[in-house]
Amino acid sequence: MNYIAREKKKPEGLSETDRQFKEKIKGKTPAQAYRFFKRHQSVYQYNTAETKEVFARMNHKRCSFCTKWISEFNTEMTIEHIETKSSCPRKIFQWDNLLCSCRTCNTKRGRKEYKADAYLDPSSIKDIERYFCFHTDGTISVSKALSQAEADKAKYMIRLYRLDRDELNAERREFFNSLLDDELFEILKRRSRDAQDIHYLSVFTYYKRRTENGK
Ligand SMILES: [Zn+2]
Repeated sequence: MNYIAREKKKPEGLSETDRQFKEKIKGKTPAQAYRFFKRHQSVYQYNTAETKEVFARMNHKRCSFCTKWISEFNTEMTIEHIETKSSCPRKIFQWDNLLCSCRTCNTKRGRKEYKADAYLDPSSIKDIERYFCFHTDGTISVSKALSQAEADKAKYMIRLYRLDRDELNAERREFFNSLLDDELFEILKRRSRDAQDIHYLSVFTYYKRRTENGK
């Protein structure tokens, strides 16, 4: 996962929907509010042209979790609710509860509920990259340089979005292989294993950004 600088200016249409929706569910229990949402999904929407445009810019069309580039962004981007819609309906349209996700990460989490003491929000944790280690075989692991509490969070996020899934490992392995001729990569390979893990992570992040669809 990479840090995502959330745009400070809230999307206007979304904020208006948020205001209207919160007005409607005033006094309702979460279960009643969620039922109200389910019945009025055609009226109250979060995945609109406006939010797509903001997320395309903010995320550089990448998934907030696996960091994969979402090629058919307008149709394939899904909106992930940090606190799930059913557990916290009042946040369904709240800007800081929404993240842009690829379809697979979104599906992998499914309806698993939000754990406030374990969830790492990539739009609020500036150094989120230090939680994870990527290896040349494409696998991901919890970084060694973390406290126990931090390591538990990293582990939770890997599990929640299945960031260790086979197809991602294969893509990362392929990506690393494509770097093998690179001079910088050669220098890193000469370092000790532990140092490599940390450096691979930063190189990986750097290259992922730079090679984003050839840009
Ligand atoms: Zn993803």
